[in-house]
Formats: sequence, C-alpha cells, structure tokens
Amino acid sequence: MVDFLFLCLRIKTENSAVELNAYIFPYGYKPFTLRVQGEPMNLADKIVKLKNEKKAIILAHNYQRPEIQDIADYIGDSIELSRKAMEEKDARIIVFSAVDFMAESAAILNPEKKVLLPVLGARCPMAQMLTVEEIKRSKSQHPHVPVVLYVNTLAAAKAECDICCTSANAAEIVSSVHSNTVLFGPDRNLAEYVERKTGKKVIPIPEWGFCPTHLLFQPEDVQILKTQHPEAVVMVHPECTFEMDKVADFVGSTSQMCRYARESKAKTFIVGTEEGVLHRLKKDNPAKKFFLAYDGAVCPNMKLNTLERVYASLKEEKHVVTVPEPIAKNARKALERMLELK
Ligand code: SF4
Repeated sequence: MVDFLFLCLRIKTENSAVELNAYIFPYGYKPFTLRVQGEPMNLADKIVKLKNEKKAIILAHNYQRPEIQDIADYIGDSIELSRKAMEEKDARIIVFSAVDFMAESAAILNPEKKVLLPVLGARCPMAQMLTVEEIKRSKSQHPHVPVVLYVNTLAAAKAECDICCTSANAAEIVSSVHSNTVLFGPDRNLAEYVERKTGKKVIPIPEWGFCPTHLLFQPEDVQILKTQHPEAVVMVHPECTFEMDKVADFVGSTSQMCRYARESKAKTFIVGTEEGVLHRLKKDNPAKKFFLAYDGAVCPNMKLNTLERVYASLKEEKHVVTVPEPIAKNARKALERMLELK
C-alpha cells in the first residue's frame, strides 16, 4: 500500500533541446530521463530570434558573406540600403553589415536609432584616402566649383561637400549640378567614368583615389574567360579601370548589375566586382551562370563581418556608430540632397 506519491520533474532546455528528468517515489529510486530532442538552434536562427526580440533589422551590403545575406532583412548597394534605413519606421536597432562609411550614413540619416557595425575594424580604405584637409585645399584651388562626393567617404568629408552620390547615380547627380566643372572624390576611376558619361569636367580629389579590390580586375582575365564562354555578357563596376570598361557590355553598380542580369536574355555572365555579389546573382537567377572576372577580388574589409560578430554585436548592442551632430548636420544635407533626386 502506497501512502503517498512524490513526483519531481526537472526540465532543462538548451537551444531547442529539452531534457526531462522524472523522480517518482516510491516506485523507483533510479531516476529516468526522458529526452525530447529537437534540432539545436544554429547561429543564424539565434540571430533571427534575437533580432525579432530586440526590434532590430539587418542591412547587408551585396559584398557580404552568403550566410549574412541569407539572414538579412535587406540586401543592396549603398543607396538602396541608405533608403531602407531612412524608410524603416519600426526598428529600434539597425545592424549594418558592411563597412564604416555605410554605417555612418545610416547613423546620420537615423539619429533616433541605434546603428551597429558588427566589427569596428571594417573600414573602407578608399574612404580613408580623402581627408578634410584635401577637400579644403581643392576648394581653395577651385573656388565656386561644386564638390560631389561618392558615399564611400567618411562623415567629416561628406560634411564638406555639396551633394553625395553612389556608383548607381553618380552620372545623374553630376548632370544635375549647375556647373560644367565639379570636384569629385575619392575614386578616380569613378570620376573618369562620370566625366565620360556627362561630358563635364570632373576633377578627381585626391588625384589618385582607388578601391584596392576593384583595381585587381584586368582585361586579360576577362579575355581568357571569354575564350571559354564566348557567349558571356561582361558586367563591370565603375570603380574598375577604364580598360575594364572597354571590355564590358554593361557598367553599373552592384544593384544595377543584379537588375541587368535578371532582365537580360543572356544565360552566362562575367562579373567585374567584389565576389560577394555572386551569391545574390546566383540565388536570383538559378538558371543562369556567373563567373567572377578575377577570383581574387575579395574585399577583406567587407569580409571582416561574420555571423559570430553580427550575433555578438546585436546581443551586447556593441559597436554603436555615432557621428558628432555638427558634422552629421552638414553630412545629412549632402545625403538628403542625393536621396531627393530619384
Ligand atoms: S570593395 Fe573597395 S570601395 Fe568597397 S568597401 Fe571594399 S575597399 Fe571600399
């Protein structure tokens, strides 16, 4: 005859696994374990869960690692992500998986939101090439000449310019400026491309600014690929040299390339930009083939962002990007002028 029954349940959860220990007295002294084993939650799932709990969104540049692109709310080039950052009403936190100047722009345009850069060391070397002193020196040498700066510049530089542009709208922005001469920085290749497109005199500041990743592309590599895939369409980024433009069928920003590849009847493409964009191109166009024009075209700065760093930054809300208001105020005007131009 049993006088009483004692049941003790211990539930332990780790990730999505559940361990259930039951001790039933007096029917047995030996505890038994009931395991309800679910799939352990992987890092990507953890980030998505955390992002929802914290009312955060993840913006990822087209050059990000595939696994980051796959968990991002939006993937795009600088201008698309800047617009998304501005349009986003509900998010409290923006995790900007890219490099410093892009996160700075998001912080400038969204002063009420917390903008996180997963890794503070993700700096664009080209943005570092244009200093405020250089802009001031150029302005004094060319008084009354408007300054158009590529968004790949630091906030302090943006604060010194009249209007910003991206690789997607650079020619359009320069055309809209009421002057036949403009100062343009920091990418010399983009400056030359804009000069060819607009017919205006475009003075590069500094004289030698460049993207180390896009400089790696050489027309000889494209020619070799063309012999293997003669039907391929060649798309290149305007940060590449003029020699690359000459062998290209299409020159445009990463998002313009994505649109072009989607709408084109061609089935094979040779791509002259950072390798990260191939993930999006292949995902959007599973029936088409994409070859990188040079296998080594990897931006090490973009690739500093990893899932682990995205998770840590969001979990601890660390690496908050802020821009002092006097600088932000002027830089915001230059960015907003660009964004007003559809
Ligand atoms: S790809 Fe070039 S321009 Fe873009 S972040 Fe890297 S170094 Fe800067």
